[in-house]
Amino acid sequence: MTAFAEKLKVIEERIAQACIRSGRNRVDIALMGVSKFHALNQIEEAWDGGIRLFGESRVQEAEEKIVGFKPAHSGTELHMIGSLQRNKVKTAVSLFDCIQSVDRESIIGELGKYAVERKTPLKVLLELHTGEESKAGFPDEESLLRAAEQALAFPGLVLAGLMTMAPYTSDTALIRRSFRTLVQAQKKLSQEFPGSDWSCLSMGMTNDFEIAIEEGATLLRIGTALFGERQR
Ligand SMILES: *Cc1c(COP(=O)(O)O)cnc(C)c1O
Repeated sequence: MTAFAEKLKVIEERIAQACIRSGRNRVDIALMGVSKFHALNQIEEAWDGGIRLFGESRVQEAEEKIVGFKPAHSGTELHMIGSLQRNKVKTAVSLFDCIQSVDRESIIGELGKYAVERKTPLKVLLELHTGEESKAGFPDEESLLRAAEQALAFPGLVLAGLMTMAPYTSDTALIRRSFRTLVQAQKKLSQEFPGSDWSCLSMGMTNDFEIAIEEGATLLRIGTALFGERQR
């Protein structure tokens, strides 16, 4: 077994246990390999291990690593999970299948403008700030509602759900509160915009993915536990 396959096996066992504890089905939870700052050969190893969904946090890095890999590995899905700069939007729209880190209104207009050039609409998740230090994300439900309305005006964009980062802490109550805030926001948005799909709840990282599963995550973003410590 490769080093990657061994790590994946351990994570899958932990996911399975969390699913049992919370009465959930493994098939309802997607596992993303967060490959930022890791080399292409690690992405290849992860692909061989069965990972099809990858997350990158910088447009240029993702472009350099994955632009050749993706067409040669059909079935690969690539999501942007880092803060998106305005001058990178055009490239991001052609490179990624989904932008998870939509965190301000000005970026929605930019995404919408370029997304019409795509063959298929660009999936977007709205990021909610729920306590993590960096302050990335919309600050509250009100701003999420406005963002949703704005996104709906662009035919090239399709809403798919919500994303958050919990604070990096050993205080599990704080982490749980973060995830519950996201679930609350999902309920609110589903009520206000029932015509859109709010089913994706992207939450849970190396430090907290089991809690995320217990709270309803449908997409886990795992870097360190799969690929090891990042180089930078
Ligand atoms: C880096 C990153 C991750 C993965 O973090 P790990 O703790 O290494 O699992 C997940 N989500 C986002 C938004 C990230 O920036």
